[in-house]
Amino acid sequence: MDKKNIDWANLGFGYIHTDYRFVSNFKNGAWDEGVLTEDANVVISECAGVLQYAQTIFEGMKAYTTADGRIVTFRPDLNGERMEQSAARLEMPVFPKDKFVEAVLKTIKANEAYVPPYGSGATLYVRPYMFGSNPVIGVKPAEEYQFRVFTTPVGPYFKGGVKPLTIRISDFDRAAPNGTGHIKAGLNYAMSLHAIVDAHNQGFDENMYLDAGTRTKVEETGGANFLFVTKDGKVVTPKSSSILPSITRRSLMQVAREYLDLETEEREVYAEELESFAECGLCGTAAVISPVGKVVDHGKEICFASGMTEMGPVTKKLYETLTGIQMGTIKAPEGWVVEV
Ligand SMILES: *Cc1c(COP(=O)(O)O)cnc(C)c1O
Repeated sequence: MDKKNIDWANLGFGYIHTDYRFVSNFKNGAWDEGVLTEDANVVISECAGVLQYAQTIFEGMKAYTTADGRIVTFRPDLNGERMEQSAARLEMPVFPKDKFVEAVLKTIKANEAYVPPYGSGATLYVRPYMFGSNPVIGVKPAEEYQFRVFTTPVGPYFKGGVKPLTIRISDFDRAAPNGTGHIKAGLNYAMSLHAIVDAHNQGFDENMYLDAGTRTKVEETGGANFLFVTKDGKVVTPKSSSILPSITRRSLMQVAREYLDLETEEREVYAEELESFAECGLCGTAAVISPVGKVVDHGKEICFASGMTEMGPVTKKLYETLTGIQMGTIKAPEGWVVEV
């Protein structure tokens, strides 16, 4: 198989049309078999549920080439499981996780020529999603749905080296205590756009959202979970029912315990205690971990000991171990790395 002629190292994070995508339709109470198609356009009613009332959910994962030349993806069963939970919360039919994994692997395989080579730092981003497709004008769930998977090659996240982020504590809220913060739904992102544009305009890379109920506890950013490292080397992540359960974060916590012999704790983290941490990182599929150097709380700067030029030592070990597991240079726990 010949790879496409793409300058992998200089790719950004954007949409590039690839050859195939997977489409399955839900009609009369059942999903059809689904097919791979070359047609990248979606044609739906002007009154489709997704267009009127935002009934849509998605997942994000990546495919890449390992050190020994296999094309793999990371823990796709957990993405499938999470999409089942997202669907249930928005009254959408569940696309079963086994069929989800099958569809994802099939789509990656069909676009093999776009999977970046090992060592390029680039990956093939995979975007499964589902939306209400039939006309809905009274507020209720759609009756017909489309599940799709497309892929797009994306460049190395740390192009030009690691640069710790400066983030602000946001006055906007991301998720209500009993709302939809824990599911991967487009609606959580639509309402975050103003906050992120405003943060960028003020010179910040990201927003740190607090719990909407008391505004005292750290939740997450718009698209990544937090990990903190205490001064005595314990890895701490915030616990809350309105945080999106990041697969990267859950994997890193396990790596901390089982590979690095570190203590871990998932607990409520108060904004007041931020100063007591030595390191802070954001975790998600795109970066694995990006280090945070500084949090700004309404003019007051909280600077982590790890500084503004590199990853902290524990963050770096976590990053190197998980990327080593993903790339096949460190032995993976059973089922983590799935060959296409
Ligand atoms: C997708 C997402 C994450 C990261 O999850 P991963 O499974 O690690 O990619 C974190 N927070 C939010 C709000 C997300 O949507």
